[in-house]
Amino acid sequence: MPDFLETMRPTKVGIIACSGEAIPEGTVTRIAARLVVEELPESTVIMCLPLFLAGDEGEQNFAKFFPTICLDGCEKRCSSLGTEKYSDKPSAVIDVKKVMKEMDIKLNPEDVVELGNNGMKLARRIAELTAKKVDEILLDIRPKDE
Ligand code: SF4
Repeated sequence: MPDFLETMRPTKVGIIACSGEAIPEGTVTRIAARLVVEELPESTVIMCLPLFLAGDEGEQNFAKFFPTICLDGCEKRCSSLGTEKYSDKPSAVIDVKKVMKEMDIKLNPEDVVELGNNGMKLARRIAELTAKKVDEILLDIRPKDE
């Protein structure tokens, strides 16, 4: 790790959404990520999973030195596994299918293009859970006397 980063306290969390275009859960992760950065513009940034997996040093280095939250759209877990493989273990992982099950929500194939009511409800819940994790992560790395 570069010296300056050892003393630097991260103030941003990278949000890495699944890039799946074939299933509605992928759309849910990307809308949720957008909702989070709109709500928390000072403390979050959206990272590009395809660029990250293609080997972009900027994206990969960010995820090595800053906390990340991965939003996985399916059991292949491209976001969390890719982050761990090319950078570091994510600070938190949110599994969309698990949250869907907990909320007893079903998505339609059309949600891939535009989320319906259920899809938006799920995206808002994923965004809430992500924002909560952002607060916990940043609180955790803040010096205790602040
Ligand atoms: S997690 Fe699933 S839906 Fe998302 S990019 Fe990977 S394979 Fe596609």
